[in-house]
Amino acid sequence: MNGEWITGLTRGGAHWTPTFVTTLDGNRCIGCGRCFKVCPRQVFDLKDRESVPGLLGSEDGEDDWEEDGFSDDPHMVMIIHNADDCIGCAACSRVCPKRCHKHAPWPM
Ligand code: SF4
Ligand code: SF4
Repeated sequence: MNGEWITGLTRGGAHWTPTFVTTLDGNRCIGCGRCFKVCPRQVFDLKDRESVPGLLGSEDGEDDWEEDGFSDDPHMVMIIHNADDCIGCAACSRVCPKRCHKHAPWPM
């Protein structure tokens, strides 16, 4: 895939192909903030659901604190704010409890 997609090297010199974040399904998102915290490039922004067009309405409910310190917030939603700074590490998908993100290699 070299020459076709953006690729990188590991410290050991092995080639790898980053999978950049392409979409975030706001209708699945529970506003927990896990992807925001783990992202090393400030790609995400947490918004009031009412301010983001095209989403289902917010559900009534209390913030739901989990053991790892994050809380679900039915009034908030994560958005992709700064896609061009993504390095394609896919850490956001590993921590998301609702599998909101999609990723893909990117052409050079
Ligand atoms: S793939 Fe990595 S850099 Fe890109 S949005 Fe997810 S956590 Fe941030
Ligand atoms: S980790 Fe998933 S559910 Fe939590 S804010 Fe990010 S996209 Fe939404």
